[in-house]
Amino acid sequence: LRKAVIAGNWKMNKNRAEAKALIEEIKPLVKDADCGVIVCVPYTNLETALELCKGSNVGVGAENCHWAKSGAFTGEISADMLAEMGVEYVIIGHSERRQYFGETDVTVNQRVRAALDAGLRVILCVGELLEQREQGITEEICAMQTKVALQGVSEAELERIIIAYEPVWAIGTGKTATADQAEEVCAFIRSVVEKLYNKKAADALTIQYGGSMNAANADELLSKKNVDGGLIGGASLKAPDFAAIVKAAS
Ligand code: 13P
Repeated sequence: LRKAVIAGNWKMNKNRAEAKALIEEIKPLVKDADCGVIVCVPYTNLETALELCKGSNVGVGAENCHWAKSGAFTGEISADMLAEMGVEYVIIGHSERRQYFGETDVTVNQRVRAALDAGLRVILCVGELLEQREQGITEEICAMQTKVALQGVSEAELERIIIAYEPVWAIGTGKTATADQAEEVCAFIRSVVEKLYNKKAADALTIQYGGSMNAANADELLSKKNVDGGLIGGASLKAPDFAAIVKAAS
């Protein structure tokens, strides 16, 4: 059966000293976890995180990567650069990238391709805006984002992908989706993947929920059959909270 994966998305938080302290606090708290544990950190903390997590059960991820291997792209970081450092995961298509940095379904697909080609594992984010939910087009939006992002991704490569369903209205707002809402959309996304690939591939896919998930609501969200873990923002910045969510998934 699918294993749950709890990933922290630190976003643009923690300097190097703070990152070191947080990871040192997290590691012993999650060492017996019966689920995957990942911390996705700013580029400037990757080296620190890799060093501290070496030999532990905590995986390390970046929060984005560019689609080209190298070139005149000032300020960008390539998937190959991440892979060469020993980074294993990369978040792609986070709604903050889509909202503030002009990310589109097409550039998300290009980044996914580059990450897979570099040998990385991808946490692919999809999710609707509040107005889209209110218009009743949540499924259309999530289906489109999923389909375009996975264009040119083989069934074998899909094994290196985690999808995170993150309703944009629930991110950083304290307004969590109900467990039923999360389950409904995660199940729907799985059905989209089944149509694109097959039932076996869809059943094996880890689909996380993200959006104001915390120590208090994790149990209920994770009790749902199609919710295979979480992508955690704010609550991943405090070791006891993050560890409590990991415990809820174990
Ligand atoms: P919050 O947990 O802070 O709502 O953020 C969720 C998120 O965007 C994770 O990628």
